[in-house]
Amino acid sequence: MQYSDRVLKTPSSFIRNILKVTDSPNVISFAGGLPNPVSFPVNQLQEAVERAISSNGAKIFQYASTTGYLPLRQYIADKYNRLNNLGLTADDILLTTGSQQALSLISQVFINKGDGIIMEEPGYLGAIQAFTMSEPTFYPVTLEEDGLNIEELQQALVKPNAKFIYTVPNFQNPTGLTYTMERRQEIYDLIKNEDIFIIEDDPYGELRFEGDHLPYIAAGKTDKSIILGSFSKTVTPGMRVGFVICKNKEFMSHMETAKQAADLHSNIFSQYTIYEYLTHNDYTSHVKKIIDLYQSQANVMLAALEEFFPENVTFTRPQGGMFIWATLNNGMSALEFFHKAMAVDVAFVPGDPFYASKTNVNTLRLNYTNATPEVIREGIQRLAKILYEVEVA
Ligand code: PMP
Repeated sequence: MQYSDRVLKTPSSFIRNILKVTDSPNVISFAGGLPNPVSFPVNQLQEAVERAISSNGAKIFQYASTTGYLPLRQYIADKYNRLNNLGLTADDILLTTGSQQALSLISQVFINKGDGIIMEEPGYLGAIQAFTMSEPTFYPVTLEEDGLNIEELQQALVKPNAKFIYTVPNFQNPTGLTYTMERRQEIYDLIKNEDIFIIEDDPYGELRFEGDHLPYIAAGKTDKSIILGSFSKTVTPGMRVGFVICKNKEFMSHMETAKQAADLHSNIFSQYTIYEYLTHNDYTSHVKKIIDLYQSQANVMLAALEEFFPENVTFTRPQGGMFIWATLNNGMSALEFFHKAMAVDVAFVPGDPFYASKTNVNTLRLNYTNATPEVIREGIQRLAKILYEVEVA
């Protein structure tokens, strides 16, 4: 049997694989990237389903347009115009099957085998995976506390056939870091005259619990800006409704073709349901509840890390989103730590799969959104014990 190089070269998702072992009820898991299910508006979604069916009848069970349900696209355009003043119309929005599908379509639209992708490092594993299917050359640029490293970005921009830059500017997955206003501006200044697209993948942007909302790096300033959004972290991930925002008509028409080939259109039932939900509920106060919950969980984890971890472990302090990124400075690799942690029934994601160009790293991702304060403290204490045992040995 001959399988394609494309699939043979693409690693299966490390996280999805480890979730199979960490899912057991005995394990304290900081591994997943799942929204807390208490944040799903179950009753309101049930009402939305009923309304969607009673007001639209058979239509919501029929094939539909590739670009997606028009009122929902208009809703998204209006919302981004309000928040970011982008001057969008519904034509600038393409609905996708989660923003994950957008990543996969984008790489099909841009990448011939060997073409360049400038990528944050560490970067979102699902993006590395989606892009790898198109057999690109990755040009990793270090993600620092303030955003992409500017010198490395400058060097990456002169590489041959670099087609786009991939960023997660708000509460990044996996590090929880947010690009500063200054770094956003520096990046924009560097790329504004280049023939390159920039993706700002922003599924967490609304989940800010500290600091001020920041403008996007390039959106509203150039038609080579692509924003990816999603309802996964604020309403429900299971309905798989995400979207692409871009004012470049040529790009959007190629995306539509790629989407036709992939799945004709995204689940139209979900699109109607989400629209009904959004237009009949107080979405802002719903999101505020999620923010309050995640902020309290982040604070508990940060306090536990401070109280229990040795000083040589450093960690990020997210202003929103779902993750903290820790760096071990005791000679232990994150994978070695992971195996020791699993022996005491605590899971996290060792950093390795988030790097396109490194292995055996000393960094790891901790998710705080899925455990109670007691469980977070207990898990961090167990991890700390391992770290102190290593110091003594
Ligand atoms: N981008 C980033 C940075 C993510 O963290 C995720 C989800 N983990 C996605 C995209 C995909 O989200 P979805 O397909 O559910 O919209």
